[in-house]
Amino acid sequence: MGIPERLRQQIITRAEQRCEYCKTSSRLTGTPLVMDHIQPLSLGGQDDAANLADACYRCNEFKGARTVASDPETQQIVPLFNPRTQLWREHFEWRNGGTQIIGLTSVGRATAIALRLNNENLVTARSIWIEFGWHPPREE
Ligand SMILES: [Zn+2]
Repeated sequence: MGIPERLRQQIITRAEQRCEYCKTSSRLTGTPLVMDHIQPLSLGGQDDAANLADACYRCNEFKGARTVASDPETQQIVPLFNPRTQLWREHFEWRNGGTQIIGLTSVGRATAIALRLNNENLVTARSIWIEFGWHPPREE
């Protein structure tokens, strides 16, 4: 098993060196991104481009083998955000000048909680990046 190097590079380029969930740049953290299986291998997910996303270590850890989470607003169990089939900006938005990620949809809200996209350490780091004009990302 394992992801071929060419495919890995393709995923990294596609993600522009940002976590596809919290949008943290690996250039700012100095920590390489990891390959996230959107559908975990343990649940039958494959090592292919449609099932792989670039994620920071934190998001990947908090996601674990999960594919669904509870929307804090409706308590409904909904799928986690899928960076391959969904657009980030349709499900999330930067607030408070870019320090907070707000879920715009049930998928966005559930994912923001499950992956702790507004973890205290991350919010502090974002406020520093903002001071230097490195955040939030402008694309998408
Ligand atoms: Zn992340």
